[in-house]
Amino acid sequence: MFVGHFALGFAAKRAVPRVSLAALCAGAQVADLLWPVFLAIGIEQVRIDPGNTAVTPLDFVSYPYSHSLLMLIVWGVLFGLVFTVRLKADARKALIFSVLAALVVSHWVLDWITHRPDMPLIPGSAKFGFGLWNSVPATMAVELTMYVAGLWIYARATRARDARGRWGFWTLAAFLAIVYVATIMGPPPPSVFAIWTSAIAGGAILVIWIWWVDRHRDVILASD
Ligand SMILES: [Zn+2]
Repeated sequence: MFVGHFALGFAAKRAVPRVSLAALCAGAQVADLLWPVFLAIGIEQVRIDPGNTAVTPLDFVSYPYSHSLLMLIVWGVLFGLVFTVRLKADARKALIFSVLAALVVSHWVLDWITHRPDMPLIPGSAKFGFGLWNSVPATMAVELTMYVAGLWIYARATRARDARGRWGFWTLAAFLAIVYVATIMGPPPPSVFAIWTSAIAGGAILVIWIWWVDRHRDVILASD
């Protein structure tokens, strides 16, 4: 899953408006931000295998540290702590911690829905996956619906402070959708090296872009 993860990040802004959208989207994408790094250092493996499922040409041979349920719970707790350790102990701190940790763990649930059975519960365990990726139309219907709903919730919970906040947001929204469709429709990546280099660079650029867009928008629903 790709834009579906961002959908949860966008939607979470309504629950914790004072947390940057960059932190929320990065939280939902911790698994996919760690994955290329672990590929680069050789502790996780992927194989290019066109037709592996209808949607992806990738065979996720092994990714126990970035994509097992247990490790995502660990990363979720750490991620939540990083953003809340300096806040004073109150209900808001507990809420922010819970939302960030839940976003990190949500990655496993959403990937379980889409992937064929390649998602471990704990490193080395049996692997699970519902396999929505066996159908391109079903995958796109589910994921794009989630994405539009997430964008809608974020757009209503915030207001552009200036032109950058308005056009930066819509450009970002369109860019993610185009990358999503192009990845599904386009040719497989040329090499594993190309996968992790583009994933690391793309992830870094997206987090900065999202942080910048969010800074140019004001929160409307000041519920926290
Ligand atoms: Zn993933």
